[in-house]
Amino acid sequence: MAKFQCPKCPKSFKTNNGLKWHLLHIHNVQYDEAQADSQYRQAAGESNADDFATLYLLPSVPIELVKAAYRTLAKLHHPDMSNSPNATEKMKELNRAYEAIMKRQSTE
Ligand SMILES: [Zn+2]
Repeated sequence: MAKFQCPKCPKSFKTNNGLKWHLLHIHNVQYDEAQADSQYRQAAGESNADDFATLYLLPSVPIELVKAAYRTLAKLHHPDMSNSPNATEKMKELNRAYEAIMKRQSTE
């Protein structure tokens, strides 16, 4: 079950966006992607966990959620939309992870 644990209080959320909103509005902090990344890598602990972590998901989520998360993140990190200097790299990483998950899914 995908769970996004708030690092500041005991609350947890079903979606990444839920946690993001909560952090911003309740704790007044920006969502820390680096921290989330390592947190989910640790929680996942499986061989393909890195690909899911890139999409801020746990490996047990349904494939529909992977697709939805990818679409959301792709919009967020698209070099045309993002001011981040790492947007292009992040986009490549997202695409690679998404394709790897989809490929694995189709061979199962
Ligand atoms: Zn909280």
